[in-house]
Amino acid sequence: MNPCKALLPAVVAALLAPAISQAAPTAQVATPLTTGSVRLDIATGRVEGDVCLSNSPANAQGHFVLNAGLNVAQVIDGEGKPVGFDGWYAPGVDGEARVYTLAEPIAKICVQYVGAFPLYPKHDALGDFKGMMAFNGDSARFTEQSAWLPQAFDPKARVRSSQSRYDLQVDCAGCRFLYLNGSPAIEGAQGRFRSDTARPILLFGGSGPTTRTAQVTILNETLPTAKVDALSSTVQKVADVHSRYMGVPLVDRPTFLRMVTLNQIERDREGSEWGFATWPTIAMSGSIVNVADSLLAGGESAERRVQYIAHEMGHYYFGTLNRPQGPYFWVLLESSAEFLSIKALRGISGDAAADRYVAGLQAAVNKLSTPLPAFDAIDGSSDLGEMYRYAYAPLLLLSLEKQVGEAKMQAFMRGLLASTSPKNWPELQAIALKAGIDTKAWQHWQESCVTGGRPSCR
Ligand SMILES: [Zn+2]
Repeated sequence: MNPCKALLPAVVAALLAPAISQAAPTAQVATPLTTGSVRLDIATGRVEGDVCLSNSPANAQGHFVLNAGLNVAQVIDGEGKPVGFDGWYAPGVDGEARVYTLAEPIAKICVQYVGAFPLYPKHDALGDFKGMMAFNGDSARFTEQSAWLPQAFDPKARVRSSQSRYDLQVDCAGCRFLYLNGSPAIEGAQGRFRSDTARPILLFGGSGPTTRTAQVTILNETLPTAKVDALSSTVQKVADVHSRYMGVPLVDRPTFLRMVTLNQIERDREGSEWGFATWPTIAMSGSIVNVADSLLAGGESAERRVQYIAHEMGHYYFGTLNRPQGPYFWVLLESSAEFLSIKALRGISGDAAADRYVAGLQAAVNKLSTPLPAFDAIDGSSDLGEMYRYAYAPLLLLSLEKQVGEAKMQAFMRGLLASTSPKNWPELQAIALKAGIDTKAWQHWQESCVTGGRPSCR
C-alpha cells in the first residue's frame, strides 16, 4: 500500500498506490505470478476464487493474506496436495485482510475461496476506501489493497507482495466490460487477462460505457469528443517529454476510471471527491469531465492537471520499470516522479507554470515547524512523510540540478532508472558519479543543501 500523490492540486493531499512492477535491465526482487480464475456477480456481491501464487519472495512463502470477507475453502500445493494452515481462530490481521499461516513455506500455493459482500445500489454506505471490495449495484471495484486475490505476506516486515504478473480468467455476471490493471479493458462479461509485467492487480467490472483512443482509456463514463481529445493530447505531450528525458519510451497509457463510490450520496452532498492512482489506472469519484474541462480552460487549473497526470505517468519509470525498495523507497518512487512532473510541466505549460509550482513546494516546506530527516542520514526507519516525498525531496533534486547542470542531472535520473535501488549514501553517490557528477560537486551539494535537513540550500 504505497500512497501516491493525491488527485487534486494540494501539494500534500495524498492518497494511494503507485504501480510497482517488474523492470528494467537490473537485478530485481522476485516477481510473483498469480494464475487461476475468479467469478463474481454484480447482483449478489458473491465472489469465488481459485487462484495460485508462485515465485513469491522467499521470506513471504509461509503466509498469505486475503480479504477478511472471503472464506478459504482449501489450500493446495503445486502438486494438488492439501496444505494445512492457521488463521481460523484468532487470526492475524493486516488492514482489510486476514493473515493465514501455512504449515510450512511452499513455493506454489493455490487457494480456493468464496465470500459475499454487501451491495450499495443507493450509494448510501457510511464510507468507502481503497481496501473495500466495493459493489455499488452496477459495478465491482477491487483494488490490490482489498486483497481480493491472495497475496504472499512477509510477517516480519509486514509487507504484502501486492504486485504480480498474472494470467487470470475473470467471469463477472452483470458486467458489460471488464478491466484488470495493466491490460486493455474488454467489452463483455468474461475474459482472460495476462500481464508479463508485475502490476498491482486492480479489477473493475461494470455496465457503463468505455472509450479508447491511442492515448487514453476512459471507463464508466462517456465524454464528448473534444474532451477526450483534450485528455489524449495532454497524455501524448507528457509521454513525449518523459520519453525524451528518460531515453526510454513510455509504453503504458493511462486508464481514467470513473467510480461511483459506495457513499456517493454523501460525497455529492458535500461536493467532495476521492481518487487514487494505481498506475496505469487513475481512478476518480468525480467526473473525468472535470479533468478535461480544466485542461480546456487553461491557466492554473490546467497546469495542476498537467502536473498531476505527468506525476502519475512518471510512475511508468519509477514504480513500474524500476521497482524501488530500501531506505530511499519513497524518494525513488514519489520524489522522482514528482521531479519528472515538474520537467513535463515546464515543457508543456511553460517556465512560469513550473516556477509557480516549485515556489508552492518551497513555500510548503518553509512553513514546516519540525525539521525534516537529512537526506544523507536516512535509513530504513526514517519517517518520510508526504511533505518529504512530494515537496522537500523533489526540491533537493532540483537543487542538485541547479548545481550540476541539466545534462548531468538527466544522466543521474537515467542512472537511477537503470540501477537497483541504492541501499545507502555511498551507493547513491556511486550512481551520481557514474552519471558524470564529480565527487567535489556531489559533496558541495551535500554540504550546501542536504546535511542537517535544512528547508533550503545555504
Ligand atoms: Zn506518485
